[in-house]
Amino acid sequence: MSVISNEDQKINLLGLDQEGLKSFCASMGEKPFRAVQLERWIHRRGAKNFDEMTDLAKSFRAKLAQVAEIKGPEILRDKTASDETRKWLVDVGGGNAVEMVFIPEKDRGTLCISSQAGCAMNCLFCSTGKQGFNRNLTSSEIIGQLWHAEHTLRKDRGVTDENERVISNVVLMGMGEPLQNLEAVVPALNLMLDDHAYGLSRRRVTVSTSGLVRQIDKLAERCPVALAVSLHAPNNELRDKIMPVNRKHPIEDLLAACKRYLKVAPRDFITFEYIMIGGVNDSEEQARELVRLVKDVPCKFNLIPFNPFPGSGLLRSPEQSVKAFSKILNDAGIVCTIRKVRGDDIDAACGQLAGEIKDRTKLAEKRADRQIIIKEITSSSTRSPGEEK
Ligand code: SF4
Repeated sequence: MSVISNEDQKINLLGLDQEGLKSFCASMGEKPFRAVQLERWIHRRGAKNFDEMTDLAKSFRAKLAQVAEIKGPEILRDKTASDETRKWLVDVGGGNAVEMVFIPEKDRGTLCISSQAGCAMNCLFCSTGKQGFNRNLTSSEIIGQLWHAEHTLRKDRGVTDENERVISNVVLMGMGEPLQNLEAVVPALNLMLDDHAYGLSRRRVTVSTSGLVRQIDKLAERCPVALAVSLHAPNNELRDKIMPVNRKHPIEDLLAACKRYLKVAPRDFITFEYIMIGGVNDSEEQARELVRLVKDVPCKFNLIPFNPFPGSGLLRSPEQSVKAFSKILNDAGIVCTIRKVRGDDIDAACGQLAGEIKDRTKLAEKRADRQIIIKEITSSSTRSPGEEK
């Protein structure tokens, strides 16, 4: 690794995992154990500058200050909902912003983070997808979200023991398709798992994908953590319409990739996310079709009542439809949970992580397509119950 010495282009150590820090230290003529020291200062203790690192020689700290920095995210907004869900809006430059959300529960604290500014996958029900794609986040920007949230929450709660963690689970379910940005996501995952950084177990770190088949195999090779797959439809016909990725990677290929992933996964099931959209994918017949579809894949379902956002043109499933759908899965022996709506008074609920994206892709065309598809799927699903397919 070459060390950049230009004042304006210091290397941001935040995004280097242990291997990266070792290469960096080697390039400065320092021993590998210095990498572990740096990692602990940055991630376990939340150090923001090198002067704090009192067990490093002064001369090394001075050299570090010349070529490197620890640059965390710039926070534009920080809001806490009535249920204690907290959302940060992070400036990623160029007029773009991404979001991260902390969801506290009795027995855990989950942070949902973003991996891209915007998203190119254009899922019909997603507020992020509607805005288009701007760019991949860097490793520093991805792990920087955890770094900022963990150390801010520790400070707010008066936690001084560096071994005590507020955030016990991380999910890459915010803005973006993480598997489209694997080069930056993998070092960030390594840091989440590393005992000298956040020390989370693989089971508590979840990558969520819209279904990029080859990338699922790559994640299996490089850093197998828990996998969640956005399924959202029981057949290719409907999934093609609500998730364009399906036209390239149809459900059969996706389920085959899930089965391959299970051979190395830290959990013995795949989590399927299923957004419940009123009159689109929430009928009892569709639940039965889903049961048939996944019969060979050890899995759990997470049903997510759709969160309408401005201009979505879609409706949340009525509560009784969600319950009836869930019962059919449960009766077939599939563990199925219904996600509680959290933080909706600050737009932090699932699918509402919009951030602010200045899209440079063909957004107008995509918007026109959306309107056509929404019309199609909502009109084909306004049959009376007896007329279900
Ligand atoms: S649901 Fe996920 S993959 Fe689909 S557009 Fe939204 S952020 Fe992208």
